Amino acid sequence: MFSYSENDFYCEQVPLADLAARVGTPAYIYSSETILTNYRAYDQAFGALPHTVCYAVKANSSLAILGLLARTGAGFDIVSGGELFRVLEAGGDPAKVVFSGVGKTPDEVEYALTHGIHTFNCESEAELALIDAKAERLSLKAGFAIRVNPDVDAATHPYISTGLHQHKFGIAIQDAPAVYRRAQRYRNLAAEGVSCHIGSQILDPAPIFEALDKALALAAQLRAEGSPIRHLDLGGGLGVAYYEGESAPAIGPFIEKVQARLCASGLTVMVEPGRSIVGPAGVLLTRVLYRKRNGAKEFVIVDAAMNDLIRPSLYHAHHEIIPVRLSRLPRIKADVVGPVCESGDFLARDREMADAMPGDFLAICTAGAYGFVQSSNYNSRPRAPEVLVEGGSYRIIRKRETFEDLVRGETL
Ligand SMILES: *Cc1c(COP(=O)(O)O)cnc(C)c1O
Repeated sequence: MFSYSENDFYCEQVPLADLAARVGTPAYIYSSETILTNYRAYDQAFGALPHTVCYAVKANSSLAILGLLARTGAGFDIVSGGELFRVLEAGGDPAKVVFSGVGKTPDEVEYALTHGIHTFNCESEAELALIDAKAERLSLKAGFAIRVNPDVDAATHPYISTGLHQHKFGIAIQDAPAVYRRAQRYRNLAAEGVSCHIGSQILDPAPIFEALDKALALAAQLRAEGSPIRHLDLGGGLGVAYYEGESAPAIGPFIEKVQARLCASGLTVMVEPGRSIVGPAGVLLTRVLYRKRNGAKEFVIVDAAMNDLIRPSLYHAHHEIIPVRLSRLPRIKADVVGPVCESGDFLARDREMADAMPGDFLAICTAGAYGFVQSSNYNSRPRAPEVLVEGGSYRIIRKRETFEDLVRGETL
């Protein structure tokens, strides 16, 4: 929950100007209430339909956030051994973990098997063979779903669209029945489900329903052929509104439609939302360092940069940038840029925004997903701290890195 009260911008009951003064800038600030509200919107809209909401760890993998979700009963969608380690450290239940990704290594497969994860979402036949071999050596049975590529266009940014036949993800849906059939020869694999995930930041859910219908038809066919398919995993991808005027589907009504499509299927449903749970729950707090003008161009130079939040540079993403304290200054049109030595280092371009002077704090909004997790030490900049607000209190869930942290593990 972020809102203005009088002239001050708050995260729940904590004024961000106070936080900026106490923890410094740049800093990521998260609202626990927003995270839980979004998670519960998924969970509750399924009603009596058996389901697991597997939060996509890659969107924001901080331990405290995983812990918050684990305590409310969430499952997790992981894409690496490192993410499984984080889930376990945070107290997550491995029996509610699904493991996605095209390039699982033998070590990662073994690690996931020994911890008893629920399902491997498999993306190739070679991967099925590897998991079977590893499971045999460990005398285990591994649950798998084939991630099918339904060849539908998610109509989102090309880097985060995954459901077309030219993408590296999944197995073409028309080939899937034969793959499930061939997988029956693996004695240490159990066909648990069918999975798909067609992309991220999807604002029109129609392609998700198209994929759902195709996956559902496949699941029905497999069951008719005697396969013990128990679940359908719809992936994540629901978009969020990054600016006023951008409209994103509301979680509850979207899931109610999914529920209506699946309630007679006898299948358990899984979803893997990331962005729609944590995206709106975070801001990146920054301080204005300088103002300058080059010819006709106006620049607001801030202490956050592309190494802290790469989405504007990488995806040309639009993040609202708003003052932490409202002023009466006129609006300006400016580029908001950071200190990194790249012309691609910008947080906003030709942005109409409230004027901001050196020393003022700004909030870069909707930065809770794919923000900190994609940050780096480029230009030897220590990574920002993360702060979790709960009502009127806050805690630093990840410390700001120091210069010593920058060289940890290096030798001269
Ligand atoms: C990235 C990803 C998700 C989460 O996507 P969001 O857009 O953050 O909801 C879910 N499942 C898989 C397989 C992914 O790769």
